[in-house]
Amino acid sequence: MQIETIAVHAGRKVDPATGAVAAPIYMTSTYERDPDGKWPRGYTYSREENPTREMLEGALAALEDGKEALAFGSGLAAVTSVVQAMEPGDHLIFPDDVYHGLRKVVNGVFAKAKLEVSFVDITDPGAVRAAVKPNTRLIWVETPSNPMLKICDLAAIAGIARKANAISVADGTFATPVLQRPMDFGIDMVMHSTTKFISGHSDVVGGVLITKHDNYAFERARNFQHYGGAIPSPFDCWLARRGIDTLPLRVRQSSANAMALALWLQAHPAVEQVHYPGLASHPGHELARRQMHDGFGGMLSFQIRGGKAEALAVTGRVRVFTRATSLGGTHSLIEHRASTEGPTSRTPQNLLRLSVGIENVQDLTADLDAALNAG
Ligand SMILES: *Cc1c(COP(=O)(O)O)cnc(C)c1O
Repeated sequence: MQIETIAVHAGRKVDPATGAVAAPIYMTSTYERDPDGKWPRGYTYSREENPTREMLEGALAALEDGKEALAFGSGLAAVTSVVQAMEPGDHLIFPDDVYHGLRKVVNGVFAKAKLEVSFVDITDPGAVRAAVKPNTRLIWVETPSNPMLKICDLAAIAGIARKANAISVADGTFATPVLQRPMDFGIDMVMHSTTKFISGHSDVVGGVLITKHDNYAFERARNFQHYGGAIPSPFDCWLARRGIDTLPLRVRQSSANAMALALWLQAHPAVEQVHYPGLASHPGHELARRQMHDGFGGMLSFQIRGGKAEALAVTGRVRVFTRATSLGGTHSLIEHRASTEGPTSRTPQNLLRLSVGIENVQDLTADLDAALNAG
């Protein structure tokens, strides 16, 4: 089946009790037992199983053509489910420009866990190969990356991980399975912040881990879901599942808008540089063309002429874009990324990140034009 059909149907069925076409939300914490103490319908307690969560997990696994999915209460809980699966002394490789919250998980939450961690330029397979050690057990990739939109070679990294007997995980949040399916290139597992394009309406925080095949890290992540307890509510699962119905439509519209804005920004005199993998001038463009299809995503960033003050001033003048962090909603957002990431940020101070929504691109262009020209 094609992705538009999967997005509408996967994980869903007409409710056998009533014939309801829209799935019910199973707002229950617990399930009735038989007099013999058994749970004949397979559901015991909602931390461990919930039908609404299963509906979401089924849809996400199908979208990535994976074997199984685990839904979590946030994207970082999905990250944590993988990191906690590692052993003391294990070596983990992450991109040097990895999503900043992941650094807080690894260096903060797991500060005392005796993990050995390297942050490397993941766009250079030679550098990744050189960073591998006998105890390397995890290689993490993010493509396109946040906020510089760098592209890494998924097949090359998957090969390096396989040879090292390490698990490869791709954060697929920016591309979504509509534009790129990392496991088709040999990556073992995909993680998403479902908060973003997958839910798509800025009304849910959630995350998911999807695996292509059985492995110990996924089993430990499942244990973490059930007993670490980082579960999403049935209502959040229902909202995320509903968002998936329109995921292909929304992602394609956002991508087309972002492509048009990237080309327009590139020619704007107030703009120094645009980072968007759809531009021929982007260093990862050819690789992105091979790995992505139907567009290059709704995320782009650009550096304006000037510094932090000028960049913040632009965000003060927009009327259609909203000043906010996060991404992947129907409405466009603008963000001064360095000040969101804080004092340890490596992001240039003159960089603005756009999450391009599904509005009419002429209105978005006019809004940015007015904000840039007033400076
Ligand atoms: C937002 C985000 C995360 C973290 O997800 P939360 O749902 O905010 O916990 C991880 N990776 C990327 C690329 C993100 O954009």
